[in-house]
Parts: sequence; structure tokens; C-alpha cells
Amino acid sequence: MDRLQDIVADIAAEMADVQDRGTVANYIPALANVSPKHFGMCIVGADGSVHKAGDAEMPFSIQSISKVFGLTIALGTVGDALWKRVGREPSGSAFNSIVQLETEHGIPRNPFINAGAIVISDILLGRYEPREALGEILRFVRELAGDHSIMIDEEVARGEAETGFRNQALAAYMRSFGNIHHAIELPLGLYFHQCALSMNCHQLALAGRYLMSDGKNPATGRSVVSPQRARRINALMITCGHYDGSGEFAYRVGLPGKSGVGGGILAVAPGLASIAVWSPGLNERGNSQLGAMALERLVQRTGWSVFEPVTPLLG
Ligand code: GLN
Repeated sequence: MDRLQDIVADIAAEMADVQDRGTVANYIPALANVSPKHFGMCIVGADGSVHKAGDAEMPFSIQSISKVFGLTIALGTVGDALWKRVGREPSGSAFNSIVQLETEHGIPRNPFINAGAIVISDILLGRYEPREALGEILRFVRELAGDHSIMIDEEVARGEAETGFRNQALAAYMRSFGNIHHAIELPLGLYFHQCALSMNCHQLALAGRYLMSDGKNPATGRSVVSPQRARRINALMITCGHYDGSGEFAYRVGLPGKSGVGGGILAVAPGLASIAVWSPGLNERGNSQLGAMALERLVQRTGWSVFEPVTPLLG
């Protein structure tokens, strides 16, 4: 076994012993039944190596991690015009908060809170029919992961459509400001379905590779986004990817990361690795409790951090 594989296996073993595992999200019916005992981790290195441990092959609901893929597609479709309708600042508020929308005229703070992602869905519907838009997201994620078995869990999507009153409120409120252009059911339907993407840590780490490798999919050599856009998506992930827990995640882990209420986190060590962790128990901010702990241990042992000094060009 190489050193990284030892580290991943050790972390998974340590996580199995942790008692306080947080609380599984229960406001989406299908997520409430997932056991908090699960833990999975997968690291895909820039050299193509794969290191995984625990439940790394067990599918889970990626939820808000899908916001990274939605944003990437929307930027590819409408470019920087997107930023007229969504901001780029951390919100310091819960992922499903409505309060800032009133004083900020229906413009969500960033693309990684619910309001922002619903606007992104609405933007995609300006270019694609609803079915096409969903097909585009699925095709994109499958292509990134090189895995055509990735599916959307219809039960999760349906459950969320039936209980997503806050998201409905966010969409209706933004529509009143003119920042949602379609009947709210349409962007919400797209948003709920993208959140219901079912993936495992291995697939997710593969899908995140373009963010570690200057926007290129290393498997195909094809450019997914420009190097500058990859850096900027990473910047948004580190500042906004964990909602009102983003500062804490940057402090403890120091890598761009995006969490979801399914308990997954996608983290990126630029130039080095794409990392996915999953443990369904959440902390009070709705981020995976063990996921962040595992990533913290990983960076302690590897030294990976975007704040790590790099070889200077000066002197
Ligand atoms: N689908 C979830 C919601 O809208 C996504 C939230 C999340 O993962 N933080 O509430």
C-alpha cells in the first residue's frame, strides 16, 4: 500500500469510532432513513491514482454539491452575464435563508445557497427546455466522472418537491423581483432533480477532477472550463461552499469544498487531488460533521492546503 492509501484507510478506521456523528437531514423524506453510521472517502490524484476507504462505493444524494455542476454549465451557457442575477459574496446565513433577498432586491448572495442555485436553474431554462436542461446536467456529470450509470433518484426529487416549501418561497419571492423568469415550478423542478443526483464518493471525486487540473478533464484531456474559470469556481467554493460554515471550513481544512445535506463534501486540492467524503450526520450548519473532520485529518497528514507556501517566483 502506498502512503496515501494508508492515510485514507486510517482516517476511515478513526471515523468508525467517532460517537458524535451529527444529525441526518430529516426534512427531505428519503434522506431521513439513511444511517449515520456510514463513512466513505475517495481521493483521485492528479496522477490518476485512486485511494478509497469505507463506503466509497455506496451511492448517496449529492444534494447541494450539484450546485457546482449547475454553475459550471450555466457559466458555459451564458458566461459572465450570469453575475447580473447572482452575487459572489458569502451569505453568512443558512443555506435556505430568505432574509437577505428583501434588502438585496431578489439577487441571491452566491450560487451555492439555495436561492442562488434556483436562479441558476432558471438561467438554464432560458436556454434549454426543462427535460433538456436536466439531460444536460446528467450528461455533464456522467461525462466528468466517465461513468454513464449515474442516475437521478426520483424518489428523493419527488419527496423534495412535495415538502420544499422554503424553496418555493425563495423562488416566488425572487420572481416578485423579476429574478425568476419562469413559472416557479419549472426552475424548482430542475433544482430538485439536480439535487437528487445519486453518486458515490468514487464517482464524485472523478467528477471533480476538472477543478484540480486547471479546468481540464484529465481522463479525456478535454477542456471543461478555462483555467481562470476553474480557479474562480474554486474561489467561490472556499468562500461560499459551506454556507455560514464556510469560514470554519476554510480555517480547518483550507481547501475549496462544497457540501450537501446528504452528507457529502467535494473538496479540491488544486494541482493535487479531487476528494469526496460522505457521512450523513450533519452539524448545526447542515454540513457533514465527519466529512469535515476527515478532511481536516487528511490535510494535517498531507500538508494539502491552498494556503501552503508555493515555490516563489521572486528572489
Ligand atoms: N435540496 C436541498 C434543499 O434545497 C439542498 C440543500 C443542501 O444540500 N444544503 O434544501
